[in-house]
Amino acid sequence: MTQDWSPRTKSVHSGTRRSQYGEMSEAIFLTQGFVYDSPEQAEARFIESGPDEFIYARYGNPTVRMFEDRIAALEGTEDAFATASGMAAVSGALTSMLKAGDHVVSAKALFGSCLYILEDVLTRFGVEVTFVDGTDLAAWKAAVRDDTKAVFLESVSNPTLEVIDVKGVAEIAHAKGALVIVDNVFATPAFSKAAELGADVIVYSATKHIDGQGRCLGGVICGTREFIRKTAEPYIKHTGGALSPFNAWVMLKGLETLHLRCNAQAESALHIAQALEGHNKLERTLYPYLNSHPQQSVAKEQMGAGGTVISLDIKGGKEGAFRFLNALDIILISNNLGDSKSIVTHPATTTHQRLSDEKRAELGITDGLVRVSIGLEDKDDLLTDIRTALDAV
Ligand SMILES: *Cc1c(COP(=O)(O)O)cnc(C)c1O
Repeated sequence: MTQDWSPRTKSVHSGTRRSQYGEMSEAIFLTQGFVYDSPEQAEARFIESGPDEFIYARYGNPTVRMFEDRIAALEGTEDAFATASGMAAVSGALTSMLKAGDHVVSAKALFGSCLYILEDVLTRFGVEVTFVDGTDLAAWKAAVRDDTKAVFLESVSNPTLEVIDVKGVAEIAHAKGALVIVDNVFATPAFSKAAELGADVIVYSATKHIDGQGRCLGGVICGTREFIRKTAEPYIKHTGGALSPFNAWVMLKGLETLHLRCNAQAESALHIAQALEGHNKLERTLYPYLNSHPQQSVAKEQMGAGGTVISLDIKGGKEGAFRFLNALDIILISNNLGDSKSIVTHPATTTHQRLSDEKRAELGITDGLVRVSIGLEDKDDLLTDIRTALDAV
């Protein structure tokens, strides 16, 4: 029955477990452990625990399980495993399935911490990683080998908003038997079609749109029951990446309003991006649904909307960008995204500061580039704020 529900219904109801009290709002089971009726029951549960049998909150918890079941239903995967942060999900998905000698192909435009896992951590344990331009299918084809175990990509890259053809990459990877792992933060669970397009494992930082109100860290890995329960869960439950029940409850509540928020934010983002395009203080306006975006058709095919983030390349380099940031009134300077409050980030001096000048240039992260996460404020107030700040450049 629940498979027939539309995404908005799933995001409100899927995964709900009610206690004997019949509570309306999901209960927070703020407990580390669970009491057994007998040693026989404890023994049996350690051998195999059923879907409503729990052992220890590092392994699983009823509130966390509700969140896992709800996001799996929404994403269209068999199962999901929740983690303490988005990075626990990314590192858990990769390290749980890889061993020394394995080969991975990854898009090179990555969130800084994802790059650290692929470039520094995996290689330290003998995994070979080949980086490619994610938008170039010929490059993927050339890099994926018979012995490639996995490919990794962010479906929309941060902060330059390149859109990767998930379906095209999945066809190349699957022809060689490699698993497709997609970090899908910018596409959001509201607009994602990643499972349909061939992604085997879909990873989210729940810190972003799922919470969506700047409160808690969290993450989740979505995939087949086999991958989630036989590969990811054993690794994560023994290495300590569990999501707290309280944070899982915040994420459950976040999912209830996910579509409303993401749709409103994406509608504002498109409106603002269209209005700013061609502004005389801007070198470029980047947004996946703009006609001028090089991967607009891929974006339209694989995302139900253009997302909630726009990037603006401001004339005058770092000085121009800093003048712009200092002149903003509503939009706050921070480094999160997907929040109900609009946020602006200057990647070159913050999130991507660690990269060399050459690497930043290669990724298109210019000194004038700013990333704007559009929130839930009135879209014309935001547009006025941006235009006024551009006047100061
Ligand atoms: C934020 C982010 C992460 C990491 O998530 P945390 O919850 O901060 O650990 C991973 N990938 C992408 C694309 C992100 O934007």
